[in-house]
Amino acid sequence: MIEKVEYIVVISVATCFLLIIFGYSFSLFFSMFINIKRRIRGENSKLRPCASCGHSISRSAHLCPNCGHNYGKESGIYNSIIACFILGVFTLGAGIGALIEFLPDFMGKR
Ligand SMILES: [Zn+2]
Repeated sequence: MIEKVEYIVVISVATCFLLIIFGYSFSLFFSMFINIKRRIRGENSKLRPCASCGHSISRSAHLCPNCGHNYGKESGIYNSIIACFILGVFTLGAGIGALIEFLPDFMGKR
């Protein structure tokens, strides 16, 4: 009985963990494709409109100089194709590694 509860807990934790990793990896690849599309369209000027006030600001800016809207530390990473690709591959690899590790639990063979 205790073994069964333990098994359910392990499966739930593993599923949440994998969903977070694959979700994060997916969002990285998604922003990479958005960046590539933007570059192909020639929209990759160094500027973007501020989400808060519409003022043209640098894509790598963490703060809007006009209204002070905070874009956080990750805005630079999400706007770089290479950074997105490397992080995406890394998280996907970690996710697959974890999936292989958890596979015996999912199959109920452990
Ligand atoms: Zn602004």
